[in-house]
Amino acid sequence: MPHSLINLATQLQRKEISSVELTTEYLNKIKKQNKKTNSYIFTNEEVSLNQAKKADEIIKKGSPSVLTGIPMSLKDNIMTIDMPTTAASKMLAKYIPSYSATVYTKLLNNGAVLLGKTNLDEFAMGSSTLNGYFGETSNPYDTDKIAGGSSGGSAASVAEDTSIYSLGSDTGGSIRQPASYCGVVGFKPTYGAVSRNGLIALASSFDQIGPIAKNVEDARIVFNVIKGKDEFDMTAFEIPRTTRQNPVIGIDEDSIQKIADKDTLKVFEKAINACKKLGYKTVKINSKYDDLYIKLYFVLAYAEMASNMGRYTGIGFGYHTKSSYIDTDDFIRKTRSEAFGDDVKTRVMFGNYMLSGDNMKKYYYKALKIRHDLIEDYYLNIFNKCDFILSPTTPTAAPRKDHKYSSVEEGSLPNIFALPANLIGLPSITIPFGMSSENMPIGIMLSGKKNFDNALFTVAKNFEQYSEHKSLDIK
Ligand code: GLN
Repeated sequence: MPHSLINLATQLQRKEISSVELTTEYLNKIKKQNKKTNSYIFTNEEVSLNQAKKADEIIKKGSPSVLTGIPMSLKDNIMTIDMPTTAASKMLAKYIPSYSATVYTKLLNNGAVLLGKTNLDEFAMGSSTLNGYFGETSNPYDTDKIAGGSSGGSAASVAEDTSIYSLGSDTGGSIRQPASYCGVVGFKPTYGAVSRNGLIALASSFDQIGPIAKNVEDARIVFNVIKGKDEFDMTAFEIPRTTRQNPVIGIDEDSIQKIADKDTLKVFEKAINACKKLGYKTVKINSKYDDLYIKLYFVLAYAEMASNMGRYTGIGFGYHTKSSYIDTDDFIRKTRSEAFGDDVKTRVMFGNYMLSGDNMKKYYYKALKIRHDLIEDYYLNIFNKCDFILSPTTPTAAPRKDHKYSSVEEGSLPNIFALPANLIGLPSITIPFGMSSENMPIGIMLSGKKNFDNALFTVAKNFEQYSEHKSLDIK
Protein backbone atom coordinates (compact mmCIF):
# COMPACT_ATOMS: atom_id res chain seq x y z
CA MET A 1 0.00 0.00 0.00
CA PRO A 2 1.31 3.47 -0.79
CA HIS A 3 1.80 5.78 2.18
CA SER A 4 -1.21 7.81 3.19
CA LEU A 5 -1.07 11.08 5.06
CA ILE A 6 -2.73 9.80 8.23
CA ASN A 7 -0.43 6.78 8.59
CA LEU A 8 2.68 8.86 8.14
CA ALA A 9 1.51 11.60 10.48
CA THR A 10 1.07 8.97 13.20
CA GLN A 11 4.53 7.52 12.55
CA LEU A 12 6.11 10.97 12.58
CA GLN A 13 4.42 11.96 15.80
CA ARG A 14 5.38 8.69 17.49
CA LYS A 15 8.93 9.47 16.31
CA GLU A 16 9.18 6.10 14.53
CA ILE A 17 10.53 8.07 11.58
CA SER A 18 11.80 11.63 11.19
CA SER A 19 10.73 14.10 8.54
CA VAL A 20 14.34 14.36 7.34
CA GLU A 21 14.43 10.57 6.80
CA LEU A 22 11.07 10.58 5.09
CA THR A 23 11.93 13.55 2.89
CA THR A 24 15.26 11.99 1.91
CA GLU A 25 13.45 8.77 0.96
CA TYR A 26 11.04 10.71 -1.25
CA LEU A 27 13.74 12.84 -2.88
CA ASN A 28 15.57 9.64 -3.80
CA LYS A 29 12.42 8.07 -5.14
CA ILE A 30 11.79 11.15 -7.29
CA LYS A 31 15.26 10.82 -8.83
CA LYS A 32 14.49 7.25 -9.90
CA GLN A 33 10.90 7.64 -10.88
CA ASN A 34 11.17 10.97 -12.70
CA LYS A 35 13.13 9.31 -15.50
CA LYS A 36 10.01 7.27 -16.25
CA THR A 37 7.20 9.73 -15.69
CA ASN A 38 8.67 13.24 -15.53
CA SER A 39 6.14 14.26 -12.90
CA TYR A 40 8.45 16.92 -11.50
CA ILE A 41 9.81 19.97 -13.27
CA PHE A 42 11.95 21.09 -10.38
CA THR A 43 13.24 19.93 -7.00
CA ASN A 44 15.60 21.58 -4.52
CA GLU A 45 16.94 19.20 -1.88
CA GLU A 46 18.31 21.96 0.29
CA VAL A 47 14.98 23.77 0.56
CA SER A 48 13.09 20.51 1.22
CA LEU A 49 15.53 19.24 3.83
CA ASN A 50 15.56 22.56 5.65
CA GLN A 51 11.78 22.48 5.86
CA ALA A 52 12.00 18.86 7.08
CA LYS A 53 14.48 19.84 9.81
CA LYS A 54 12.13 22.58 10.99
CA ALA A 55 9.26 20.10 11.01
CA ASP A 56 11.28 17.66 13.15
CA GLU A 57 11.90 20.42 15.65
CA ILE A 58 8.19 21.24 15.84
CA ILE A 59 7.46 17.55 16.42
CA LYS A 60 10.12 17.43 19.13
CA LYS A 61 8.51 20.41 20.85
CA GLY A 62 5.23 18.52 20.75
CA SER A 63 3.16 20.98 18.73
CA PRO A 64 2.74 19.44 15.28
CA SER A 65 -0.31 19.60 13.01
CA VAL A 66 -1.30 16.56 10.98
CA LEU A 67 0.64 17.96 7.99
CA THR A 68 3.87 18.60 9.90
CA GLY A 69 6.82 16.87 8.29
CA ILE A 70 4.77 15.33 5.46
CA PRO A 71 6.40 15.73 2.02
CA MET A 72 4.15 17.06 -0.73
CA SER A 73 4.32 18.66 -4.17
CA LEU A 74 2.76 21.70 -5.83
CA LYS A 75 1.68 22.19 -9.42
CA ASP A 76 4.12 24.59 -11.01
CA ASN A 77 1.55 27.34 -11.48
CA ILE A 78 1.37 27.86 -7.70
CA MET A 79 3.85 30.51 -6.65
CA THR A 80 6.67 29.56 -4.30
CA ILE A 81 9.19 32.11 -3.12
CA ASP A 82 11.91 29.47 -2.63
CA MET A 83 11.53 27.50 -5.86
CA PRO A 84 10.94 28.64 -9.46
CA THR A 85 7.37 28.85 -10.75
CA THR A 86 7.26 28.35 -14.50
CA ALA A 87 3.70 27.37 -15.49
CA ALA A 88 5.64 25.02 -17.82
CA SER A 89 6.18 27.95 -20.17
CA LYS A 90 9.32 29.34 -21.75
CA MET A 91 7.82 32.72 -20.78
CA LEU A 92 8.44 31.96 -17.08
CA ALA A 93 11.18 29.33 -17.40
CA LYS A 94 13.51 31.19 -15.03
CA TYR A 95 10.93 32.99 -12.95
CA ILE A 96 11.24 32.98 -9.16
CA PRO A 97 8.24 34.70 -7.57
CA SER A 98 8.67 37.53 -5.09
CA TYR A 99 5.90 36.14 -2.89
CA SER A 100 4.27 32.79 -2.18
CA ALA A 101 0.72 31.72 -2.92
CA THR A 102 -1.55 31.85 0.14
CA VAL A 103 -2.05 28.07 -0.05
CA TYR A 104 1.71 27.49 0.16
CA THR A 105 2.05 29.86 3.13
CA LYS A 106 -0.77 28.03 4.89
CA LEU A 107 0.84 24.64 4.26
CA LEU A 108 4.21 25.89 5.52
CA ASN A 109 2.56 27.32 8.62
CA ASN A 110 1.36 23.77 9.23
CA GLY A 111 4.86 22.34 8.90
CA ALA A 112 4.50 20.90 5.38
CA VAL A 113 7.60 19.96 3.36
CA LEU A 114 7.72 20.91 -0.32
CA LEU A 115 9.49 18.27 -2.43
CA GLY A 116 9.22 20.14 -5.70
CA LYS A 117 7.09 21.59 -8.45
CA THR A 118 5.07 19.33 -10.72
CA ASN A 119 4.56 19.38 -14.46
CA LEU A 120 1.51 20.73 -16.29
CA ASP A 121 0.31 21.82 -19.70
CA GLU A 122 1.64 25.29 -20.48
CA PHE A 123 -0.25 27.80 -18.27
CA ALA A 124 -2.62 24.92 -17.37
CA MET A 125 -4.09 24.99 -20.88
CA GLY A 126 -4.72 21.39 -21.82
CA SER A 127 -5.87 17.95 -20.77
CA SER A 128 -2.77 15.84 -21.33
CA THR A 129 0.42 17.27 -19.77
CA LEU A 130 2.07 16.62 -23.12
CA ASN A 131 2.58 20.23 -24.17
CA GLY A 132 4.63 21.93 -21.47
CA TYR A 133 8.04 23.51 -22.08
CA PHE A 134 9.73 20.87 -19.91
CA GLY A 135 8.46 17.79 -21.71
CA GLU A 136 5.68 15.24 -21.28
CA THR A 137 4.48 13.55 -18.12
CA SER A 138 3.61 9.86 -18.47
CA ASN A 139 0.95 7.90 -16.67
CA PRO A 140 2.64 5.81 -13.94
CA TYR A 141 0.30 2.88 -14.75
CA ASP A 142 1.45 2.76 -18.37
CA THR A 143 4.03 5.19 -19.66
CA ASP A 144 2.61 5.00 -23.22
CA LYS A 145 -0.52 6.65 -21.86
CA ILE A 146 -1.14 10.23 -20.79
CA ALA A 147 -1.35 11.25 -17.15
CA GLY A 148 -4.11 13.67 -18.11
CA GLY A 149 -3.99 17.37 -17.48
CA SER A 150 -3.40 19.97 -16.84
CA SER A 151 -2.40 18.88 -13.30
CA GLY A 152 -0.83 15.70 -14.73
CA GLY A 153 2.43 15.99 -12.81
CA SER A 154 0.60 16.36 -9.50
CA ALA A 155 -1.72 13.40 -10.17
CA ALA A 156 1.13 11.18 -11.40
CA SER A 157 3.32 12.07 -8.41
CA VAL A 158 0.61 11.05 -5.94
CA ALA A 159 -0.16 7.84 -7.89
CA GLU A 160 3.50 6.77 -8.09
CA ASP A 161 4.01 7.85 -4.46
CA THR A 162 6.66 10.46 -5.11
CA SER A 163 4.56 12.78 -2.96
CA ILE A 164 2.04 12.12 -0.22
CA TYR A 165 -0.34 14.72 -1.61
CA SER A 166 -0.22 17.56 -4.08
CA LEU A 167 -2.11 20.71 -4.95
CA GLY A 168 -3.42 21.21 -8.47
CA SER A 169 -5.67 23.77 -10.14
CA ASP A 170 -8.97 23.11 -11.87
CA THR A 171 -10.39 25.50 -14.48
CA GLY A 172 -12.28 23.00 -16.59
CA GLY A 173 -11.47 19.65 -15.00
CA SER A 174 -7.71 19.90 -14.58
CA ILE A 175 -7.61 18.38 -11.09
CA ARG A 176 -10.28 15.73 -11.53
CA GLN A 177 -9.48 14.44 -15.02
CA PRO A 178 -5.78 13.64 -14.38
CA ALA A 179 -6.61 12.33 -10.88
CA SER A 180 -9.07 9.95 -12.49
CA TYR A 181 -6.58 8.84 -15.19
CA CYS A 182 -3.92 8.20 -12.52
CA GLY A 183 -6.19 6.51 -9.96
CA VAL A 184 -6.07 9.06 -7.16
CA VAL A 185 -8.55 11.36 -5.39
CA GLY A 186 -8.88 14.91 -6.76
CA PHE A 187 -11.05 17.63 -5.28
CA LYS A 188 -12.17 20.92 -6.81
CA PRO A 189 -13.60 23.13 -4.06
CA THR A 190 -16.54 25.52 -4.24
CA TYR A 191 -15.45 28.62 -6.16
CA GLY A 192 -13.96 30.99 -3.58
CA ALA A 193 -13.49 28.37 -0.84
CA VAL A 194 -9.72 28.47 -1.42
CA SER A 195 -7.71 31.63 -2.10
CA ARG A 196 -6.34 32.03 -5.61
CA ASN A 197 -3.73 34.53 -4.46
CA GLY A 198 -0.47 33.37 -6.02
CA LEU A 199 -2.06 30.99 -8.49
CA ILE A 200 -0.96 31.94 -12.01
CA ALA A 201 -4.33 32.95 -13.42
CA LEU A 202 -5.83 31.05 -16.33
CA ALA A 203 -9.57 31.87 -16.36
CA SER A 204 -10.20 33.75 -13.16
CA SER A 205 -13.92 33.06 -12.75
CA PHE A 206 -13.31 29.31 -13.19
CA ASP A 207 -9.95 28.62 -11.47
CA GLN A 208 -9.78 26.85 -8.12
CA ILE A 209 -6.85 25.28 -6.30
CA GLY A 210 -7.54 21.90 -4.72
CA PRO A 211 -5.88 18.80 -3.26
CA ILE A 212 -4.90 15.60 -5.04
CA ALA A 213 -4.42 12.77 -2.56
CA LYS A 214 -4.41 9.03 -2.00
CA ASN A 215 -7.81 8.87 -0.37
CA VAL A 216 -10.79 11.05 0.45
CA GLU A 217 -9.81 11.64 4.08
CA ASP A 218 -6.33 12.88 3.09
CA ALA A 219 -7.89 15.28 0.58
CA ARG A 220 -10.30 16.53 3.22
CA ILE A 221 -7.49 17.20 5.69
CA VAL A 222 -5.48 19.20 3.14
CA PHE A 223 -8.55 21.13 2.01
CA ASN A 224 -9.30 22.13 5.61
CA VAL A 225 -5.83 23.62 5.91
CA ILE A 226 -5.81 25.58 2.63
CA LYS A 227 -9.40 26.88 2.64
CA GLY A 228 -10.70 30.15 3.99
CA LYS A 229 -10.88 33.84 3.32
CA ASP A 230 -7.82 35.83 2.42
CA GLU A 231 -7.11 39.53 2.38
CA PHE A 232 -5.29 39.04 -0.95
CA ASP A 233 -8.24 37.46 -2.78
CA MET A 234 -11.54 39.30 -2.56
CA THR A 235 -13.44 36.26 -3.91
CA ALA A 236 -12.21 33.98 -1.13
CA PHE A 237 -14.56 33.33 1.76
CA GLU A 238 -15.14 30.98 4.69
CA ILE A 239 -17.47 28.16 3.63
CA PRO A 240 -20.02 27.10 6.24
CA ARG A 241 -20.00 23.62 7.81
CA THR A 242 -22.49 21.39 6.04
CA THR A 243 -23.86 17.90 6.48
CA ARG A 244 -26.51 15.98 4.62
CA GLN A 245 -28.36 12.97 6.05
CA ASN A 246 -29.78 10.43 3.62
CA PRO A 247 -28.68 12.27 0.52
CA VAL A 248 -30.46 11.86 -2.79
CA ILE A 249 -28.12 11.18 -5.71
CA GLY A 250 -28.94 12.57 -9.16
CA ILE A 251 -27.75 10.72 -12.26
CA ASP A 252 -28.01 11.90 -15.85
CA GLU A 253 -28.21 8.37 -17.22
CA ASP A 254 -28.97 9.28 -20.81
CA SER A 255 -25.91 11.44 -21.43
CA ILE A 256 -23.67 9.03 -19.54
CA GLN A 257 -24.85 6.08 -21.68
CA LYS A 258 -24.25 8.13 -24.82
CA ILE A 259 -20.75 9.33 -23.97
CA ALA A 260 -18.96 6.79 -21.76
CA ASP A 261 -17.22 3.66 -23.09
CA LYS A 262 -17.90 0.05 -22.03
CA ASP A 263 -15.23 -0.18 -19.33
CA THR A 264 -16.30 3.11 -17.80
CA LEU A 265 -19.96 2.12 -17.81
CA LYS A 266 -19.08 -1.12 -16.04
CA VAL A 267 -17.30 0.73 -13.24
CA PHE A 268 -20.09 3.29 -13.11
CA GLU A 269 -22.63 0.50 -12.72
CA LYS A 270 -20.81 -0.48 -9.53
CA ALA A 271 -21.10 3.09 -8.26
CA ILE A 272 -24.86 2.92 -8.81
CA ASN A 273 -24.89 -0.34 -6.86
CA ALA A 274 -22.96 1.39 -4.10
CA CYS A 275 -25.83 3.89 -3.83
CA LYS A 276 -28.16 0.99 -3.08
CA LYS A 277 -25.80 -0.50 -0.51
CA LEU A 278 -25.49 2.89 1.17
CA GLY A 279 -29.24 3.34 1.20
CA TYR A 280 -29.01 6.45 -0.99
CA LYS A 281 -32.02 7.16 -3.14
CA THR A 282 -31.21 7.88 -6.81
CA VAL A 283 -33.16 10.07 -9.22
CA LYS A 284 -32.85 10.76 -12.93
CA ILE A 285 -31.72 14.26 -13.75
CA ASN A 286 -31.08 16.09 -16.97
CA SER A 287 -29.92 19.57 -17.86
CA LYS A 288 -31.26 21.24 -20.94
CA TYR A 289 -27.90 22.97 -21.25
CA ASP A 290 -25.68 19.93 -21.54
CA ASP A 291 -24.78 20.47 -25.19
CA LEU A 292 -23.67 23.99 -24.28
CA TYR A 293 -21.06 23.27 -21.58
CA ILE A 294 -18.17 23.04 -24.01
CA LYS A 295 -19.31 26.02 -26.08
CA LEU A 296 -19.74 28.19 -22.99
CA TYR A 297 -16.31 27.16 -21.78
CA PHE A 298 -14.73 28.05 -25.09
CA VAL A 299 -16.22 31.54 -25.21
CA LEU A 300 -15.99 32.55 -21.55
CA ALA A 301 -12.89 30.76 -20.32
CA TYR A 302 -10.89 31.54 -23.45
CA ALA A 303 -11.83 35.23 -23.23
CA GLU A 304 -10.55 35.26 -19.66
CA MET A 305 -7.42 33.34 -20.67
CA ALA A 306 -6.65 35.86 -23.42
CA SER A 307 -7.02 38.72 -20.92
CA ASN A 308 -4.83 36.99 -18.35
CA MET A 309 -2.09 36.32 -20.90
CA GLY A 310 -1.98 40.08 -21.55
CA ARG A 311 0.31 40.55 -18.54
CA TYR A 312 3.19 38.73 -20.26
CA THR A 313 4.92 41.46 -22.19
CA GLY A 314 8.58 40.76 -21.50
CA ILE A 315 8.68 43.96 -19.48
CA GLY A 316 9.27 43.68 -15.74
CA PHE A 317 9.47 39.92 -15.39
CA GLY A 318 9.78 36.71 -17.36
CA TYR A 319 11.29 36.07 -20.77
CA HIS A 320 12.06 38.89 -23.17
CA THR A 321 13.27 38.78 -26.74
CA LYS A 322 16.96 39.19 -27.43
CA SER A 323 16.39 40.25 -31.06
CA SER A 324 16.26 43.84 -32.21
CA TYR A 325 12.92 45.65 -32.23
CA ILE A 326 11.56 48.91 -33.54
CA ASP A 327 9.09 49.88 -30.84
CA THR A 328 7.32 48.55 -27.74
CA ASP A 329 4.65 46.71 -29.74
CA ASP A 330 7.32 45.00 -31.78
CA PHE A 331 9.21 44.06 -28.61
CA ILE A 332 6.10 42.50 -27.07
CA ARG A 333 5.15 40.74 -30.30
CA LYS A 334 8.60 39.17 -30.62
CA THR A 335 8.70 38.21 -26.93
CA ARG A 336 5.34 36.45 -27.15
CA SER A 337 6.09 34.79 -30.49
CA GLU A 338 9.26 33.30 -29.06
CA ALA A 339 8.01 32.33 -25.62
CA PHE A 340 4.40 31.14 -25.94
CA GLY A 341 3.64 27.64 -27.18
CA ASP A 342 1.12 26.95 -29.98
CA ASP A 343 -1.79 26.19 -27.67
CA VAL A 344 -1.38 29.44 -25.78
CA LYS A 345 -1.18 31.42 -29.02
CA THR A 346 -4.33 29.77 -30.39
CA ARG A 347 -6.27 30.49 -27.21
CA VAL A 348 -5.10 34.10 -27.02
CA MET A 349 -6.27 34.65 -30.59
CA PHE A 350 -9.59 32.87 -30.06
CA GLY A 351 -10.27 34.64 -26.75
CA ASN A 352 -9.46 38.07 -28.12
CA TYR A 353 -11.60 37.39 -31.17
CA MET A 354 -14.54 36.68 -28.83
CA LEU A 355 -13.96 40.07 -27.18
CA SER A 356 -13.36 42.14 -30.32
CA GLY A 357 -15.86 44.66 -31.69
CA ASP A 358 -19.37 43.30 -32.20
CA ASN A 359 -18.30 39.82 -31.08
CA MET A 360 -18.35 41.03 -27.51
CA LYS A 361 -22.14 41.31 -27.74
CA LYS A 362 -22.64 38.44 -30.15
CA TYR A 363 -20.66 35.85 -28.20
CA TYR A 364 -19.24 37.02 -24.90
CA TYR A 365 -22.28 38.75 -23.37
CA LYS A 366 -24.56 36.07 -24.74
CA ALA A 367 -22.44 33.35 -23.16
CA LEU A 368 -22.44 35.24 -19.85
CA LYS A 369 -26.21 35.30 -19.94
CA ILE A 370 -26.42 31.57 -20.72
CA ARG A 371 -23.99 30.82 -17.89
CA HIS A 372 -26.41 32.62 -15.60
CA ASP A 373 -29.37 30.64 -16.97
CA LEU A 374 -27.44 27.41 -16.58
CA ILE A 375 -26.76 28.16 -12.91
CA GLU A 376 -30.43 28.90 -12.39
CA ASP A 377 -31.42 25.68 -14.14
CA TYR A 378 -29.16 23.64 -11.87
CA TYR A 379 -30.57 25.19 -8.73
CA LEU A 380 -34.22 25.22 -9.78
CA ASN A 381 -34.42 21.92 -11.62
CA ILE A 382 -31.56 19.68 -10.58
CA PHE A 383 -30.70 20.51 -6.98
CA ASN A 384 -34.40 20.60 -6.36
CA LYS A 385 -34.50 16.87 -6.91
CA CYS A 386 -31.14 15.77 -5.56
CA ASP A 387 -28.31 16.75 -3.20
CA PHE A 388 -25.38 15.35 -5.17
CA ILE A 389 -24.71 14.49 -8.79
CA LEU A 390 -22.97 11.23 -9.67
CA SER A 391 -21.25 10.52 -12.99
CA PRO A 392 -18.08 8.96 -14.32
CA THR A 393 -15.22 11.48 -14.10
CA THR A 394 -14.22 10.97 -17.73
CA PRO A 395 -15.83 9.04 -20.62
CA THR A 396 -12.81 6.70 -20.95
CA ALA A 397 -9.68 5.68 -19.06
CA ALA A 398 -6.41 7.46 -19.97
CA PRO A 399 -5.81 7.35 -23.75
CA ARG A 400 -2.48 6.59 -25.40
CA LYS A 401 -0.15 9.55 -25.94
CA ASP A 402 -0.48 9.21 -29.72
CA HIS A 403 -4.28 9.15 -29.64
CA LYS A 404 -5.67 11.68 -32.11
CA TYR A 405 -9.03 13.35 -31.65
CA SER A 406 -10.98 13.97 -34.85
CA SER A 407 -12.21 17.45 -33.86
CA VAL A 408 -11.80 20.16 -31.25
CA GLU A 409 -15.22 19.20 -29.91
CA GLU A 410 -14.20 15.57 -29.50
CA GLY A 411 -10.93 16.66 -27.90
CA SER A 412 -12.98 18.40 -25.19
CA LEU A 413 -14.99 15.31 -24.29
CA PRO A 414 -12.59 14.16 -21.55
CA ASN A 415 -13.79 17.19 -19.56
CA ILE A 416 -17.48 17.01 -20.39
CA PHE A 417 -18.56 15.68 -16.98
CA ALA A 418 -16.21 18.01 -15.09
CA LEU A 419 -17.15 21.30 -16.77
CA PRO A 420 -20.49 22.13 -15.10
CA ALA A 421 -18.77 22.38 -11.70
CA ASN A 422 -16.45 25.07 -13.09
CA LEU A 423 -19.19 26.93 -14.93
CA ILE A 424 -21.39 26.96 -11.81
CA GLY A 425 -18.73 27.10 -9.07
CA LEU A 426 -19.69 23.78 -7.45
CA PRO A 427 -17.51 21.53 -5.29
CA SER A 428 -16.66 18.30 -7.11
CA ILE A 429 -14.55 15.26 -6.31
CA THR A 430 -13.22 12.27 -8.22
CA ILE A 431 -12.52 8.96 -6.49
CA PRO A 432 -10.77 6.00 -8.13
CA PHE A 433 -13.39 3.28 -8.35
CA GLY A 434 -12.27 0.46 -10.63
CA MET A 435 -9.97 -0.69 -13.42
CA SER A 436 -10.39 -0.88 -17.20
CA SER A 437 -9.84 -4.04 -19.26
CA GLU A 438 -6.31 -2.70 -19.89
CA ASN A 439 -5.78 -2.28 -16.16
CA MET A 440 -6.01 1.50 -16.15
CA PRO A 441 -7.80 3.38 -13.35
CA ILE A 442 -11.36 4.63 -13.80
CA GLY A 443 -12.87 7.23 -11.49
CA ILE A 444 -16.33 8.34 -10.48
CA MET A 445 -17.24 11.95 -9.79
CA LEU A 446 -19.56 13.47 -7.22
CA SER A 447 -20.57 17.13 -7.26
CA GLY A 448 -22.62 19.06 -4.73
CA LYS A 449 -24.26 22.42 -4.25
CA LYS A 450 -22.08 25.43 -3.63
CA ASN A 451 -20.68 25.41 -0.05
CA PHE A 452 -21.50 21.73 0.49
CA ASP A 453 -17.83 20.75 0.37
CA ASN A 454 -17.90 19.11 3.81
CA ALA A 455 -21.02 17.12 3.10
CA LEU A 456 -19.53 16.07 -0.25
CA PHE A 457 -16.44 14.66 1.48
CA THR A 458 -18.62 12.58 3.79
CA VAL A 459 -20.62 11.12 0.92
CA ALA A 460 -17.46 10.49 -1.13
CA LYS A 461 -15.92 8.63 1.78
CA ASN A 462 -18.94 6.37 1.94
CA PHE A 463 -18.62 5.56 -1.76
CA GLU A 464 -14.90 4.95 -1.37
CA GLN A 465 -15.56 1.85 0.75
CA TYR A 466 -16.89 0.11 -2.36
CA SER A 467 -14.01 1.05 -4.64
CA GLU A 468 -12.32 -1.78 -6.55
CA HIS A 469 -9.37 0.37 -7.54
CA LYS A 470 -5.88 -1.14 -7.46
CA SER A 471 -3.17 1.27 -6.39
CA LEU A 472 0.38 1.04 -7.63
CA ASP A 473 3.19 -0.16 -5.40
CA ILE A 474 6.37 1.47 -6.64
CA LYS A 475 9.34 0.94 -4.31
N1 GLN B 1 -8.61 20.90 -20.26
C1 GLN B 1 -9.26 22.17 -20.09
C2 GLN B 1 -8.58 23.18 -20.97
O1 GLN B 1 -7.84 22.79 -21.78
C3 GLN B 1 -9.20 22.56 -18.66
C4 GLN B 1 -7.92 23.14 -18.24
C5 GLN B 1 -7.87 23.37 -16.77
O2 GLN B 1 -8.75 22.99 -16.02
N2 GLN B 1 -6.82 24.05 -16.35
O3 GLN B 1 -8.77 24.36 -20.89
